[in-house]
Amino acid sequence: SVPTPTHEVIIIGSGPAGLTAAIYSARADLKPLIIEGEPSSTSDQPGGQLMLTTDVENFPGFPEGVMGPDLMANMRSQALRFGAEIITEKVSKVNFSNHPFELWTNNSTDEPTYTANSVIVSTGARSIMLGLEAENRLIGHGLSTCATCDGFFFRDQEIAVVGGGDSALEEAIFLSRFASKVTIIHRRDELRASKIMQQRALNNPKISFLWNSTVEEIIGEEKVAGVTLCNTLNGERSSLDISGLFIAIGHRPNTDLFIGQLNMDENGYLLTGADQSTTNIEGVFACGDVQDHKYRQAITAAGSGCMAALDAERWLENFHDK
Ligand code: NAP
Repeated sequence: SVPTPTHEVIIIGSGPAGLTAAIYSARADLKPLIIEGEPSSTSDQPGGQLMLTTDVENFPGFPEGVMGPDLMANMRSQALRFGAEIITEKVSKVNFSNHPFELWTNNSTDEPTYTANSVIVSTGARSIMLGLEAENRLIGHGLSTCATCDGFFFRDQEIAVVGGGDSALEEAIFLSRFASKVTIIHRRDELRASKIMQQRALNNPKISFLWNSTVEEIIGEEKVAGVTLCNTLNGERSSLDISGLFIAIGHRPNTDLFIGQLNMDENGYLLTGADQSTTNIEGVFACGDVQDHKYRQAITAAGSGCMAALDAERWLENFHDK
């Protein structure tokens, strides 16, 4: 096969981090290639997690708010306008032990599909979901994975949070500022969350607990209207009327591709240098939720995408000077 020319920068992933990195590196004349991913399921598609939201009201610059998918379409056209190239493929394999770095978007063991002098990893993270059929239909319509993003929409309403870890309790406590009642649905009768969070949630008059309960079904055609619950001890079914359901059973970074090549923490998040986007491989940078389990906001992802582009640009300058 004909070898493709080596790219200066390849960006893997097309959420706010990847597209911001693309805008910056395109404007630095690095002609980035963005491998944006392929739509394979609702929770895994080009554009990242904002594709699963409706109204975004906390992204600066949009006083009236903006729809998540529109925001991503705008970022995408902004990157294209400056000469970024976007391909709708999914990276299946990387080899960061050779330079130029090698990337494959098919499962063949032949020549790499692409080679690059630098790579920016922005493959994001996903919220773990319950696996119910209604989730795809109702996400962004009363079903949410982000209290910070969507809590505001549930003023004076009765809502529920699924999970028993720190995330679930943190979300419930935050949501209690808006909602009239927050029910935490947990599959056991013991919380995994830290003691201090447990105390805060247990002492919060707006928060109540449904123990030993799993969500069997989310009710609602166009909007969440309630859930069907199953008691794990006696199998009894019950229903709960709510207008909002927050899933907080954990997140998973999309890093399987990099196992054995990039350093990760015990939960699979990529480790980056303090205040920078560097990884353990020189010339490979990481930004956005794939390396951030703390803030997880579109704006922080975009900010770190900018950092990665600037770090890559400087690194490439040194590399070509050698
Ligand atoms: P986590 O600690 O893994 O907790 C996940 C919770 O979801 C568990 O209670 C688990 O139940 C439940 N769960 C998992 N799969 C489920 C399913 N299919 N159906 C129903 N329930 C399910 O995740 P996390 O709360 O996102 O926290 C992740 C890490 O970040 C933790 O180390 C946590 O301490 C940290 N964190 C800290 C803070 C803070 O300090 N402010 C805030 C957020 C997160 P079981 O308990 O039965 O397994």
